[in-house]
Amino acid sequence: MAEDKKETEKIGRCAMCADMCKYSCPTYLATGRETLSPQKMARLIVYHEKGLLEDRKDFLDLMFQSALCGACSRHCIYDDYDLRRFIHKARVKAFESGAIPEDVKKRVETFRKFGNPNGERKPIDKGAGDIGYFISCSSYKDEDLLRATEKMLSKSGLAIRRFGGGDMCCGAPLYYAGDMEGFKRASLKMKAEVDTKQVGKIVIDCPTCVKTMTETYRDMWVELDVEIMHTAQFIETLLKQGKLGIKKKKRTVTLHDPCILSYDLALSSAPREIIATLGFSLKEPVYSGDQTHCCGAAYGAKIGDHRLKDAVTSRRLNELRSTAADIYVTACPTCKSVLSEINMKYITELVAERVIAKR
Ligand code: SF4
Ligand code: SF4
Repeated sequence: MAEDKKETEKIGRCAMCADMCKYSCPTYLATGRETLSPQKMARLIVYHEKGLLEDRKDFLDLMFQSALCGACSRHCIYDDYDLRRFIHKARVKAFESGAIPEDVKKRVETFRKFGNPNGERKPIDKGAGDIGYFISCSSYKDEDLLRATEKMLSKSGLAIRRFGGGDMCCGAPLYYAGDMEGFKRASLKMKAEVDTKQVGKIVIDCPTCVKTMTETYRDMWVELDVEIMHTAQFIETLLKQGKLGIKKKKRTVTLHDPCILSYDLALSSAPREIIATLGFSLKEPVYSGDQTHCCGAAYGAKIGDHRLKDAVTSRRLNELRSTAADIYVTACPTCKSVLSEINMKYITELVAERVIAKR
């Protein structure tokens, strides 16, 4: 009860705030629509809780228009506040009452049928070893990324078990759709899968999977008994340990920091270390590191309004293009696919181009 009161006070504070964080909010910046700014969202959530809104459908649609990127919490004047928690609660209520956008509904239905948001069954299970490489539903279709991963792993000489593919998903698309029962089932299925693999560590390309399979599972009382690592951390460690031979070549690279990797997982230094070790010179867009801007599809779940998502993506593409680098790189398979117009690469692809056999 006291906890509820504290939460109500927090969102009340936000609803009355000067809203300066809106200048970091990608949906507000891309559209200039005041209702999409964090403070206005908070105000509408408070009004909705008090039963003061006439148009409930408009309100619920709006809750699916946040990218849930976390930029507002990063720039918030309060340390202990994250508006995304309240937006997520509103999505859960929307889901329970069946009032979710059509696109989101379709994704949930596909997930229920196939166990992943892509509607395919292409399980991968190969190799053996104490390190697992989970190929997420966001990376298994990316042949360039898979090829680069195989090359990098084979040069490292480590014994690795690959699993996942089109068959398994961490459940994040259900969580962010507000389907908490479905998410719980997906997390337990993943736990059972991970237990059978008997590995001590799992490396994952997708920042959303990393956050979901650690923090979000823990909130649901599901604990995976393994160390989970993002690929950028893994490669950084391999390079530091001298397990990968590198042939350096001078070119300029612009890094797009994925918001989950830099805001939520605080891992923006890992891709930078890799880029420096490969001999590239790094060009930073104006918004980078923990000030990054979202590509429009945070958590692998695009904003529930495709025109809004396209506006956010187009803004980010312009920010990146203005650096005029030779190569554009990121550390999230979803960002890579959403920003494909500038021939975005995943960080492993950059490593695979430079890796040589160790003598
Ligand atoms: S998220 Fe923080 S800074 Fe932004 S409007 Fe709310 S309280 Fe103010
Ligand atoms: S989570 Fe991102 S898109 Fe949503 S209100 Fe905050 S800054 Fe804006």
